[in-house]
Amino acid sequence: MFALCLTLGLLAAFVAAIVIRALRFVPCEEPETPAEHIPADQAALAAQLQAMLRLPTVSATEEGLTDDAVFESFRALLARLYPTLFARCAPERHGRHGLLLRIQGRSPDAPSVLMAHYDVVPAEEEGWTHPPFAGDIMEGELWGRGALDTKCTVMGILAAAEALLREGFVPRNDVYLSLGGDEETLGQDASAIVDALEAHSLRPAFVLDEGGAVVDRVFPGVSRPAALVGIAEKGSAFVDVCAAGRGGHASAPPSRQAVGQLCRALVNIQKRQAPFTLTAPARVLFDTLGRHAGFGYRLIFANLWCFRPLLDLVCRQSGGELNALVRTTAALTRLSASPAYNVLPAEASAGVNLRLIPGDSAQAAMDRLRRVLGKTGATARLVKASAPSPVSPAEGQAWQRLGSAIAHTFPGAIRSPYLMMAASDSRHYCRISEHVYRFSPLSLDRARLGLIHNQDERIRLDLLGDIYRFYIRVLRQC
Ligand SMILES: [Zn+2]
Repeated sequence: MFALCLTLGLLAAFVAAIVIRALRFVPCEEPETPAEHIPADQAALAAQLQAMLRLPTVSATEEGLTDDAVFESFRALLARLYPTLFARCAPERHGRHGLLLRIQGRSPDAPSVLMAHYDVVPAEEEGWTHPPFAGDIMEGELWGRGALDTKCTVMGILAAAEALLREGFVPRNDVYLSLGGDEETLGQDASAIVDALEAHSLRPAFVLDEGGAVVDRVFPGVSRPAALVGIAEKGSAFVDVCAAGRGGHASAPPSRQAVGQLCRALVNIQKRQAPFTLTAPARVLFDTLGRHAGFGYRLIFANLWCFRPLLDLVCRQSGGELNALVRTTAALTRLSASPAYNVLPAEASAGVNLRLIPGDSAQAAMDRLRRVLGKTGATARLVKASAPSPVSPAEGQAWQRLGSAIAHTFPGAIRSPYLMMAASDSRHYCRISEHVYRFSPLSLDRARLGLIHNQDERIRLDLLGDIYRFYIRVLRQC
């Protein structure tokens, strides 16, 4: 009887503890100061972006297929569109198409860097409602490859800088505008720009590149839009997984065939996922957005000390972005074996793309992968890898500065750090700065997010003013 009472008592205390924690797990937002009105000429901004979209600055994966002349024309266009900026800021070329401009501040110390890239992924005309490089405007939207990724921010940064310089604005510290021309093929422009800054021993106090946007329904149980700022990005590794077998005529196959072995290996990889890892970006994201969720979710996120295994299971089952936030993932991507129905392959192989969570390494992930392959007979070989970035702090001056520009441009959005799944040019800046942030000042719903790198990429014209205002606010604080 005593034992039963004790058990019930402990259970009641446990339930009370997790409920109290959930009830106290509420948003802790600072009050927002009203934003100063910044006029924006939407038609002029649209015309600038339209001219940019009409130049097909396509980054080709294959060497020699990129049309350098178009990139040259694009830079000439920028100089025409933003004459004050280009006259005053001594544009420098670095790498193949990298462009660097310096807005001189009152002090060269603690400079800021605003980044974007002006190359785009290829687009075939077929399947598009409006041709990808025509820059058509229809029903309040501007159509074209690069409208979202990311000529819109190229336009926003340069238009804001041009307007401020014309007003006679001088920033407190130097500001560098860093534009890459080969981001989409993981090229070297941004790296070359960073080399140049490093040669002058510059340590930027603030670096901002493309990244998270202002997105609706991004987190379970949260209906308010969230402005997601990438404070780190995942690394990536390309791996070949191979299984050998006896090749030859298909009329009398052996009991262990290469393709069968490979399939067993791949099923293992899919099933045995990397361990759940709560990195700083995920922890802060759960702590920020979790507070805005319904009570059921708050119960979980306020009590990760006991619900961590449950969260792990939910993430595993759901897959997708939620799962990618908490572990190194393995995507099975390429397959090859025999060229004919009646030929047994001597080797079957698959391509696997590992996305490494901060703190993980290609070497550690390969060791894990080999343990997963176990006795399947398949082997793994690392082809290429890039490390995950360090994590920038979600506090301090640079973070506050970004936060206030977001709050004033997107009132009502919850500001939260997150982990970028894709690679951006900003990773090169981690060499010379501890304050690298990834945020695109764009309000997008899920459907619009899906247009990035897709057919019918387009942007609503009413977003252009906010992009411009956001960069005005950022620049004024530099
Ligand atoms: Zn991009």
